[in-house]
Amino acid sequence: MKCPFCGSLDTQVLDSRVSEEGDAIRRRRRCAACERRFTTYERVDLMMPAIVKRNGSRVDFDAAKLRASMALALRKRPVSATAVDAAAARIQDQLMASAKREISSDVVGELVMQELRALDQIAYIRYASVYRSFEDIREFMAAIDEFRHQEDGDA
Ligand SMILES: [Zn+2]
Repeated sequence: MKCPFCGSLDTQVLDSRVSEEGDAIRRRRRCAACERRFTTYERVDLMMPAIVKRNGSRVDFDAAKLRASMALALRKRPVSATAVDAAAARIQDQLMASAKREISSDVVGELVMQELRALDQIAYIRYASVYRSFEDIREFMAAIDEFRHQEDGDA
């Protein structure tokens, strides 16, 4: 870390502590050249990656849109709003944690499918049939089969 007063690169950390809110690390530093002291803060960068659509265009991540697309698939299904919120939050967390600047909409779609699959198989099939458009009928049958097997397993 460069000294803001003299520009020297020779600075030392005197003290590090987590801020009261717990969302930053505060460091007291001392410049070895001019002996002045300064403070730096280290925070998590909460930038969401941009979403790259199949046609190559980029859009900002939209949490409301994500939540709405999941809610649509879950329409009239016995899944609580709290569970949907939690699933949407997990997707958002994973995107954030990826620390990527751009993420393809396909990756987001896969994350949504994973969550829906765990929440409700019907919603999963609804979403997947629209999202993947099931160009291949075998793919659709495989999803249905998987659903049947799970039903058998529950019985
Ligand atoms: Zn200095």
